[in-house]
Amino acid sequence: MAFELPKLTYAYDALEPHIDARTMEIHHSKHHAGYTNNLNGAIDGSDLEGKTIENILANLDLENKAVRNNGGGFYNHRLFWSVMSEDGGGKPTGELAEAINDAFGSFEAFKDAFKKVAATQFGSGWAWLCVHTGGKVEVCGTANQDNPLMPSIGCGGTPILGVDVWEHAYYLNYQNRRPDYLEAFFSVINWIEVSALYAQNK
Ligand code: MN
Repeated sequence: MAFELPKLTYAYDALEPHIDARTMEIHHSKHHAGYTNNLNGAIDGSDLEGKTIENILANLDLENKAVRNNGGGFYNHRLFWSVMSEDGGGKPTGELAEAINDAFGSFEAFKDAFKKVAATQFGSGWAWLCVHTGGKVEVCGTANQDNPLMPSIGCGGTPILGVDVWEHAYYLNYQNRRPDYLEAFFSVINWIEVSALYAQNK
Protein backbone atom coordinates (compact mmCIF):
# COMPACT_ATOMS: atom_id res chain seq x y z
CA MET A 1 0.00 0.00 0.00
CA ALA A 2 1.68 3.16 -1.17
CA PHE A 3 1.47 6.40 0.78
CA GLU A 4 -1.22 8.77 -0.45
CA LEU A 5 -1.31 12.54 -0.43
CA PRO A 6 -3.82 13.35 2.34
CA LYS A 7 -6.80 15.48 1.40
CA LEU A 8 -7.12 18.78 3.21
CA THR A 9 -10.15 19.08 5.49
CA TYR A 10 -10.58 22.70 4.38
CA ALA A 11 -10.43 24.65 1.11
CA TYR A 12 -7.20 26.16 -0.20
CA ASP A 13 -8.56 29.64 0.55
CA ALA A 14 -9.85 28.76 4.03
CA LEU A 15 -6.83 30.16 5.86
CA GLU A 16 -6.86 33.55 4.14
CA PRO A 17 -5.78 36.22 4.80
CA HIS A 18 -3.19 34.53 7.02
CA ILE A 19 -2.06 31.96 4.45
CA ASP A 20 -3.08 32.66 0.86
CA ALA A 21 -4.86 30.19 -1.39
CA ARG A 22 -2.16 30.13 -4.09
CA THR A 23 0.52 29.22 -1.56
CA MET A 24 -1.71 26.51 -0.08
CA GLU A 25 -2.52 25.03 -3.49
CA ILE A 26 1.09 24.88 -4.68
CA HIS A 27 2.30 23.70 -1.30
CA HIS A 28 -0.18 20.84 -1.07
CA SER A 29 -0.70 19.80 -4.71
CA LYS A 30 2.92 20.23 -5.84
CA HIS A 31 5.33 20.13 -2.90
CA HIS A 32 3.56 17.63 -0.65
CA ALA A 33 2.53 15.54 -3.66
CA GLY A 34 6.17 15.49 -4.74
CA TYR A 35 7.40 14.26 -1.37
CA THR A 36 4.69 11.60 -1.33
CA ASN A 37 5.50 10.30 -4.81
CA ASN A 38 9.23 10.37 -4.18
CA LEU A 39 8.80 8.53 -0.87
CA ASN A 40 6.87 5.81 -2.63
CA GLY A 41 9.59 5.57 -5.25
CA ALA A 42 12.30 5.41 -2.61
CA ILE A 43 10.75 2.52 -0.66
CA ASP A 44 9.32 0.61 -3.62
CA GLY A 45 10.59 -2.96 -3.44
CA SER A 46 12.57 -2.34 -0.21
CA ASP A 47 11.93 -3.78 3.25
CA LEU A 48 10.42 -0.40 4.24
CA GLU A 49 7.43 -0.98 2.00
CA GLY A 50 4.25 -1.55 4.04
CA LYS A 51 5.60 0.01 7.24
CA THR A 52 3.99 3.05 8.84
CA ILE A 53 5.65 6.40 8.25
CA GLU A 54 6.22 6.73 12.01
CA ASN A 55 8.03 3.37 12.06
CA ILE A 56 10.10 4.27 9.01
CA LEU A 57 11.20 7.60 10.51
CA ALA A 58 11.91 6.25 14.00
CA ASN A 59 14.22 3.58 12.57
CA LEU A 60 15.66 5.71 9.79
CA ASP A 61 19.20 5.35 8.48
CA LEU A 62 20.07 9.06 8.18
CA GLU A 63 22.35 8.21 5.26
CA ASN A 64 19.28 7.13 3.29
CA LYS A 65 18.74 10.64 1.95
CA ALA A 66 15.81 9.78 -0.33
CA VAL A 67 13.74 8.37 2.56
CA ARG A 68 15.02 10.99 5.02
CA ASN A 69 14.02 13.92 2.79
CA ASN A 70 10.82 12.54 1.29
CA GLY A 71 9.61 10.51 4.27
CA GLY A 72 10.19 13.58 6.43
CA GLY A 73 8.44 15.76 3.87
CA PHE A 74 5.46 13.41 3.72
CA TYR A 75 5.04 13.22 7.49
CA ASN A 76 5.82 16.89 8.25
CA HIS A 77 3.29 18.31 5.81
CA ARG A 78 0.58 15.86 6.87
CA LEU A 79 0.99 17.11 10.44
CA PHE A 80 1.20 20.74 9.28
CA TRP A 81 -2.16 20.66 7.46
CA SER A 82 -3.84 18.98 10.41
CA VAL A 83 -2.77 21.60 12.97
CA MET A 84 -4.28 24.49 11.02
CA SER A 85 -7.95 25.45 10.66
CA GLU A 86 -10.07 28.35 9.52
CA ASP A 87 -11.49 28.26 13.06
CA GLY A 88 -8.01 28.32 14.58
CA GLY A 89 -6.06 30.77 16.65
CA GLY A 90 -6.39 31.66 20.30
CA LYS A 91 -4.81 29.51 22.98
CA PRO A 92 -4.96 25.91 24.13
CA THR A 93 -6.93 24.96 27.22
CA GLY A 94 -6.89 22.07 29.66
CA GLU A 95 -3.93 19.75 30.15
CA LEU A 96 -1.99 21.07 27.14
CA ALA A 97 -2.25 24.63 28.49
CA GLU A 98 -0.98 23.33 31.84
CA ALA A 99 1.95 21.52 30.20
CA ILE A 100 2.87 24.68 28.27
CA ASN A 101 2.70 26.75 31.44
CA ASP A 102 4.84 24.20 33.30
CA ALA A 103 7.50 24.26 30.58
CA PHE A 104 7.55 27.93 29.60
CA GLY A 105 5.79 29.85 32.36
CA SER A 106 3.02 31.20 30.13
CA PHE A 107 1.46 30.84 26.68
CA GLU A 108 3.12 34.09 25.59
CA ALA A 109 6.54 32.79 26.66
CA PHE A 110 5.92 29.57 24.71
CA LYS A 111 4.85 31.58 21.66
CA ASP A 112 8.02 33.68 21.87
CA ALA A 113 10.19 30.56 22.17
CA PHE A 114 8.48 28.79 19.27
CA LYS A 115 8.65 31.85 17.02
CA LYS A 116 12.30 32.40 17.90
CA VAL A 117 13.25 28.84 16.92
CA ALA A 118 11.24 29.18 13.70
CA ALA A 119 12.60 32.62 12.83
CA THR A 120 16.23 31.69 13.46
CA GLN A 121 16.22 28.33 11.67
CA PHE A 122 18.89 29.05 9.04
CA GLY A 123 17.66 28.20 5.57
CA SER A 124 14.91 25.61 5.26
CA GLY A 125 13.41 23.66 8.12
CA TRP A 126 10.73 23.36 10.74
CA ALA A 127 9.98 24.42 14.32
CA TRP A 128 8.18 21.97 16.58
CA LEU A 129 6.29 21.62 19.82
CA CYS A 130 6.93 18.08 21.02
CA VAL A 131 5.57 16.00 23.86
CA HIS A 132 7.60 13.42 25.75
CA THR A 133 6.21 10.36 27.48
CA GLY A 134 4.97 11.67 30.83
CA GLY A 135 3.58 14.85 29.30
CA LYS A 136 6.48 17.30 29.30
CA VAL A 137 6.58 19.56 26.23
CA GLU A 138 9.53 21.19 24.50
CA VAL A 139 10.22 23.42 21.52
CA CYS A 140 12.95 22.61 19.03
CA GLY A 141 13.88 23.05 15.39
CA THR A 142 15.15 20.82 12.59
CA ALA A 143 16.71 21.49 9.20
CA ASN A 144 15.29 20.58 5.80
CA GLN A 145 12.64 17.81 6.17
CA ASP A 146 14.10 16.28 9.32
CA ASN A 147 11.79 15.84 12.29
CA PRO A 148 11.87 14.79 15.94
CA LEU A 149 10.87 11.19 15.26
CA MET A 150 14.20 10.60 13.50
CA PRO A 151 16.99 9.13 15.65
CA SER A 152 19.75 11.38 16.97
CA ILE A 153 18.35 14.50 15.34
CA GLY A 154 18.84 16.72 18.42
CA CYS A 155 15.14 17.22 18.93
CA GLY A 156 13.03 14.58 20.67
CA GLY A 157 9.58 13.43 21.59
CA THR A 158 6.53 13.31 19.37
CA PRO A 159 5.73 16.45 17.39
CA ILE A 160 2.21 17.79 18.07
CA LEU A 161 2.64 21.17 16.35
CA GLY A 162 4.95 22.10 13.51
CA VAL A 163 5.47 25.11 11.29
CA ASP A 164 7.11 24.93 7.88
CA VAL A 165 9.69 27.69 7.44
CA TRP A 166 10.80 26.73 3.94
CA GLU A 167 10.40 29.80 1.72
CA HIS A 168 7.81 27.90 -0.36
CA ALA A 169 5.52 28.09 2.70
CA TYR A 170 5.34 31.88 2.76
CA TYR A 171 7.31 33.64 0.04
CA LEU A 172 4.40 34.49 -2.32
CA ASN A 173 2.58 36.45 0.38
CA TYR A 174 5.28 37.44 2.84
CA GLN A 175 8.48 37.47 0.72
CA ASN A 176 11.39 37.63 3.20
CA ARG A 177 9.19 38.52 6.18
CA ARG A 178 9.28 35.17 7.96
CA PRO A 179 8.34 36.69 11.36
CA ASP A 180 5.11 38.09 9.85
CA TYR A 181 4.24 34.64 8.50
CA LEU A 182 4.90 33.11 11.92
CA GLU A 183 2.59 35.61 13.60
CA ALA A 184 -0.06 34.77 10.98
CA PHE A 185 0.43 31.04 11.62
CA PHE A 186 -0.62 31.58 15.23
CA SER A 187 -3.94 32.92 13.92
CA VAL A 188 -4.75 29.58 12.29
CA ILE A 189 -3.39 27.02 14.77
CA ASN A 190 -5.98 24.33 15.44
CA TRP A 191 -5.48 23.95 19.18
CA ILE A 192 -8.23 21.34 19.39
CA GLU A 193 -6.18 19.03 17.14
CA VAL A 194 -2.89 19.89 18.89
CA SER A 195 -4.55 19.08 22.23
CA ALA A 196 -5.79 15.76 20.85
CA LEU A 197 -2.26 14.92 19.68
CA TYR A 198 -0.95 15.85 23.11
CA ALA A 199 -3.43 13.51 24.79
CA GLN A 200 -2.59 10.65 22.39
CA ASN A 201 1.18 10.94 22.75
CA LYS A 202 1.87 12.13 26.31
MN1 MN B 1 6.65 22.71 2.77
